[in-house]
Amino acid sequence: MSFSYDTIGFIGVGSMGQHMADNLLQKLESVRLYVHDVSRAPVDALCSKYPERVVACANSQQVAEHSSLILSMVPEGSHVRDVYLDPSTGILVADASNKILIDCSTIDAATSLAVREQTRSLYPTASFYDAPVSGGVLGAQRATLTFMLGCSPTDPNMPLLRDLLGKMGSNIFACGGPSLGLVAKACNNYCSGLIAIATSEAMNIGMAAGMDPRLLKQIFDSSTAQSTILDKWCPVPGILPEVPSSNGYKGGFKVQLMRKDFGLAVDTAKRLGVRLALGDVGLETYTAAMNDPRCRDLDSRVVYRFLGGNEDWEKDFENVD
Ligand code: NAD
Repeated sequence: MSFSYDTIGFIGVGSMGQHMADNLLQKLESVRLYVHDVSRAPVDALCSKYPERVVACANSQQVAEHSSLILSMVPEGSHVRDVYLDPSTGILVADASNKILIDCSTIDAATSLAVREQTRSLYPTASFYDAPVSGGVLGAQRATLTFMLGCSPTDPNMPLLRDLLGKMGSNIFACGGPSLGLVAKACNNYCSGLIAIATSEAMNIGMAAGMDPRLLKQIFDSSTAQSTILDKWCPVPGILPEVPSSNGYKGGFKVQLMRKDFGLAVDTAKRLGVRLALGDVGLETYTAAMNDPRCRDLDSRVVYRFLGGNEDWEKDFENVD
């Protein structure tokens, strides 16, 4: 099935949003994109790349006035509230009847449900979806993001959502109902955040005892400690050349974003009465790492550095085959 998209709105064109917007412009050649960001520079960059097809808007309301479908990609729940609910400049100040609103930000489920509820009470024909992503900036650039949609697979807009989000991602999961996309995202990052800590600690133990981390990694890979973190995001620098740890932990998924997502998972567990053995300690670890000037703004696998991991291990093995 093919859909025609004439006017799309995009709010928040930061590290992720700018690439997602760019992919839409590349793949939907007839689309006109109405863009707003509180920071002017990324909007100007899109306008100069696509002068005929990108229109800069002064606020979210203006975006909504011109667009039948709107994507938002802002940092936190408070920003999502501003974008949708601000009484003078928010999306819902415009007539949102029949519009499709897709929030890709990773935020708390309560805020997302509140925005959805407000949307539905003011405009019963509008549809609001939580649709957080994983895959990072590289996934946004390459259009290989995974989208976790807070809706049923039988949602009537699903064919359109698959088609549209497929321009920016390669996996689209309908998670069952409102806010469950956000729950899925938080659970994934809770798990991967803990694996990064566990992998760092286990490598530290072995290295402190004199093991070559390259060999230890090979053993993990063929035993039971193998993981995506070890294979694609190895926290120990110098083992895999392309990963952030081997590049001073630059690029990747910032430790403050991991702290935020980890906190969302722990909050959800508390709200639902789910017992966590590792939640508080994981949260403390990422909070402290995020506030450590040696780690802030770096890829979250910098938790290895935070935990005192040896980054200069290669010299110990220079004369060993
Ligand atoms: P970012 O800070 O780089 O970009 C967010 C953009 O939103 C900024 O340009 C900012 O100016 C804009 N903004 C903030 N408030 C606004 C408002 N009220 N109105 C309009 N624009 C506003 O953040 P990012 O890395 O692009 O992340 C966005 C979301 O995606 C976050 O929720 C994050 O957790 C999630 N996420 C990020 C990554 C990643 O690797 N960066 C990966 C997956 C998910």
